[in-house]
Amino acid sequence: MQQKRFGARAEYREPERQRVKDSPTLTEAFQKLKSLTVEFEHYDPAGTTRNNRVKYEVNVQNVKSVFRFDCTNPECIGGDFDLTGPIAEAVAAHKEVVQGEVVCKGWRSRTTINTVHCNSIFRRTVGLRYGALGLRLAGRQSGLSADRTASFPSSRGRLRTSG
Ligand SMILES: [Zn+2]
Repeated sequence: MQQKRFGARAEYREPERQRVKDSPTLTEAFQKLKSLTVEFEHYDPAGTTRNNRVKYEVNVQNVKSVFRFDCTNPECIGGDFDLTGPIAEAVAAHKEVVQGEVVCKGWRSRTTINTVHCNSIFRRTVGLRYGALGLRLAGRQSGLSADRTASFPSSRGRLRTSG
């Protein structure tokens, strides 16, 4: 029985682990993302906290862009919390803080598959910092930064030197 329970969890998590492994790092996926922190707390379905607030400073150069946290319910099957989408959206919108709460969509245990959801709660605050690298590259490629500096002296304020 022990073997089987472990099997169901492992069976679900194995392809997930592979998906993480195959994904690019955060730096590769989001060139302008300079640092990422995730502060999180887990709650059980009744809203009772399961752990102290944890602050995780993510190494964006090593950590993969498919970004997930394991559910803290040891019996949970098919759940866990995936922050990949929220992080991609935050970067696209250039947000610096994103707060949110996700309810685990897995099954509470092997015996409740298709009947009772896990419903563990993952509450997190994601902090993002951006570097200039991406912007500088974009400017250099399109010639935008050159145009902009060239247009500065020609704008109003310089005409009276001629008189
Ligand atoms: Zn769960």
